Amino acid sequence: MQSNHPLPVDPDRLQAIAQKWGTPTYVYMESMIRERCRMLKTLFPDLPVSWLYAVKANDNPHVIRIIAGEGLGFDTVSYEEVLLCLRLDTDPRDIFYTENNMTDAEMHGAARQGVVLNIGSLGRLKAFCSAYPGSECSIRIKPDISDGHHAKVDTGNQDSKFGIRMDLIAQAVAIARDHGVRIRGIHAHIGSGIQEPENLLAEIEVLLKSSSLLEDLAFINFGGGIPIPYRANETPFDLQRFAQLASGRLRDFLSTVGKPVTFFFEPGRWIVGPAGLLLTQVNTVKDQGRKKFIGTDTGFNHLLRPALYDAYHEVVSITAREAKSTQTYHVAGNICESGDMLGLDRSLPESKPGDYLAILDAGAYGMTMASQYNRRALPAEVLITSDGYHKTIRSRKSPEETVDDFLRETGLAANQVGEVS
Ligand SMILES: *Cc1c(COP(=O)(O)O)cnc(C)c1O
Repeated sequence: MQSNHPLPVDPDRLQAIAQKWGTPTYVYMESMIRERCRMLKTLFPDLPVSWLYAVKANDNPHVIRIIAGEGLGFDTVSYEEVLLCLRLDTDPRDIFYTENNMTDAEMHGAARQGVVLNIGSLGRLKAFCSAYPGSECSIRIKPDISDGHHAKVDTGNQDSKFGIRMDLIAQAVAIARDHGVRIRGIHAHIGSGIQEPENLLAEIEVLLKSSSLLEDLAFINFGGGIPIPYRANETPFDLQRFAQLASGRLRDFLSTVGKPVTFFFEPGRWIVGPAGLLLTQVNTVKDQGRKKFIGTDTGFNHLLRPALYDAYHEVVSITAREAKSTQTYHVAGNICESGDMLGLDRSLPESKPGDYLAILDAGAYGMTMASQYNRRALPAEVLITSDGYHKTIRSRKSPEETVDDFLRETGLAANQVGEVS
């Protein structure tokens, strides 16, 4: 049986997009992104909770604009992401910059722009306080709570590189006080694709408790990590229940803290993951004896998650929806490595070269993690707009442009050859 994970777009429409713009192409659904932003905003109706979108999940400027239009702020993790949001006319006060191993140049850039700087080490806090006495910042702590869909994205455990140790918060407060810097916020992020809601509740508890050390406290940021179901039979994270449990605790906190405090969450994947898919074309079908392979025109250079995290993405045939017989296939990419598999032992309709496949739930950590490994061009990106049109929001380079740009960047384009500096 072909997977029953629902295809979020009419297959004829996807076929038309593939034929018009070619493959591989990421396709995003504007209406779904908007609906998901709106849904989040209903979760804590009577509490001062705001939502930041974690830009690293999908930083296409059109996607950022859509989410800004829904009234969310942004969680950024590099100075480049900060600049991108600013260039798209985001108010710097709506940009939260969670640094890790930031350089002085990045710190000065961020401070100059007036974004909220969230500092994750005592060394960086000292540098910031010395350079900007009398200013404000936030601190990220290491809550010693472990979660995430894979060890590589478990960010809050005891041995994590992120955040300030809890027993050093008092020292952070002393450093800030010495320079007249007010620590306005406290933050943690325990991991991406949280498996146990209890861990998020435990992290909230740790942050609420630790916040009592901050005399200038104005906000608490609980991080991101809300998971999405990647498999058809997976139970989705019960957001309503989570919000109910968290609400009680947040209300208690507000009634005892004695000053106005606001709360933030910063999801990325949950907002854009299910709203995107990767369209690819089958170009090879072959029987290797024990395994049958479908060969596609994309690979881990375009969707890294299966290779990096052993992540599962549903693969659906767009062309052969009604095929009478199914086969079990390995779905392979076109990168010259044996680990370049997009799906293993997938039951799909009998496939042939020319068929189109959709790799689902690829709206988060798809294009942002794509590379030009094997010197291949990046995929195009297409947006299906809320009013039903589709348009390219990032064009694809031809193989010739890809190579010519590469030669130009390395100083060896035809007209540059022989130049010595
Ligand atoms: C990656 C990241 C997020 C978003 O994680 P999701 O799993 O996409 O929700 C939020 N905050 C920080 C600090 C991050 O690094």
